[in-house]
This record gives sequence, C-alpha cells and structure tokens, in this order.
Amino acid sequence: MDRLVMFRNFFSSVVLSLFCSALYAEDWVPVYEEPRHKLAFENDHAMILDVNLPPGYVSLYHEHKIDLLYVTIVGTKVWAKPLGGERREADVKTGDLRFSSDNHGLPHVHRVGNIGTTPFHVIGIGIKDKISNNATALEGNTSAMALVMEKPHASVYRIHLQPGEKTGLHSHHLPYTKVYQSAGQVSDSNGNIQQVEAGDFSWQAGGERHSYENAGDNEITIIEMLWR
Ligand SMILES: [Zn+2]
Repeated sequence: MDRLVMFRNFFSSVVLSLFCSALYAEDWVPVYEEPRHKLAFENDHAMILDVNLPPGYVSLYHEHKIDLLYVTIVGTKVWAKPLGGERREADVKTGDLRFSSDNHGLPHVHRVGNIGTTPFHVIGIGIKDKISNNATALEGNTSAMALVMEKPHASVYRIHLQPGEKTGLHSHHLPYTKVYQSAGQVSDSNGNIQQVEAGDFSWQAGGERHSYENAGDNEITIIEMLWR
C-alpha cells in the first residue's frame, strides 16, 4: 500500500468516526432506557415510570411513544428541550397533574434537566390501550373524590382527605392505577390500616368495591387514574 492510499484510508476513517459521534450526540433512547426514568411496572394496559431526577441532572434524549399522566410527587424547577427545538423552563409544583399529550404530540423526543434545589420526582402512568367495553368505570358513592381531568382514554380523580375523613364506598368496573401523593396511614373499608409513602402506586385490575379513610394525623392526597 503506498503512502497516499494509507493517508486516504486514515483520513476517511477519521471523518467517518467524527460523523458517527456527531450522529450519536443527536441519538436518543426509548424513555424506559433513560437511566432516571425507571420502568417500575408494565402489563398489556399500562406502563408506569418512576422518574427521579436529582438536582443538576440532565437526561439523555429519549422518545415518548404513548401518553403519560405525570403525577408530581416532588416538584422543582426544570427545563425540557425537544430534539432540534428550543429549551423551555417550567416551575413544576408538588401535586401537579399533567398529561404529556397536553405539552406535545406523540411520538416525541426530548431531554429534560433539573435546575432546582430538590429532586424532581414524578410517577408517569402510560396508557397502552383503551379498554372501551362500554362498562361504567366507576359506580357508587364518590364523596370526597373530585374528577379533575377527563380524556378520551382516562379519567383522573383527586382524593384529598383530612385526618379521620373518608371517601364513599365505590366500585371500579375497569382497571385503574392509584398513586399516593403523600405519606400517611390509610384504612380500607374492612378497617385494615396500611402505611403509605409519597410516590407509592399500584395497578388495579378493577372489579372491586372499596373506600379510603385517612387513619393518620396528616392530610393525604391520593390520585386514581381510571381507564375508560
Ligand atoms: Zn377507588
């Protein structure tokens, strides 16, 4: 091999690797592969992400393919930047509820950063399907349950209970996911008391009747997202 060919080979491999690293810089991962977007639960209906960004954290670019309800456990100041778009800052309050489809279309690639002084902790409930079997999702006594958001695929209820306060006894005929936004003691309709932490969540298949009673000393908030 003469020197010219060697030089040309060397030169083209440098150009190729520079080109590849430039491509890589604009690359992205599925949301559940972003290190701080932990896939905490998944089945045929739901994908639940436990998102916890420490102060100063900048996420990888990641792709959202399905709509998520973000239940904010600890809010702070954050930014989001769509791939190729402008960086926007937002003050997300503890307790905020938001569907990702209210912010952007799908699929969507972006990265987010925490510029606050506390961790940014969010539970993201992703809806993989629409059940749509014409059943009534919720029936019974819904006292102390406020319908706060309604979408074609989901309804969101906020349950805010002072110590000693309880909801009515209600039936769920369709799946739902509940998220505790505050720590405390919760008693069910059989009087079983459970200690819960802020950010605890559970997927429920439906077909049950229950109520919540605040059995602790501080007020608590519970979010139920019902499939439709
Ligand atoms: Zn319920």
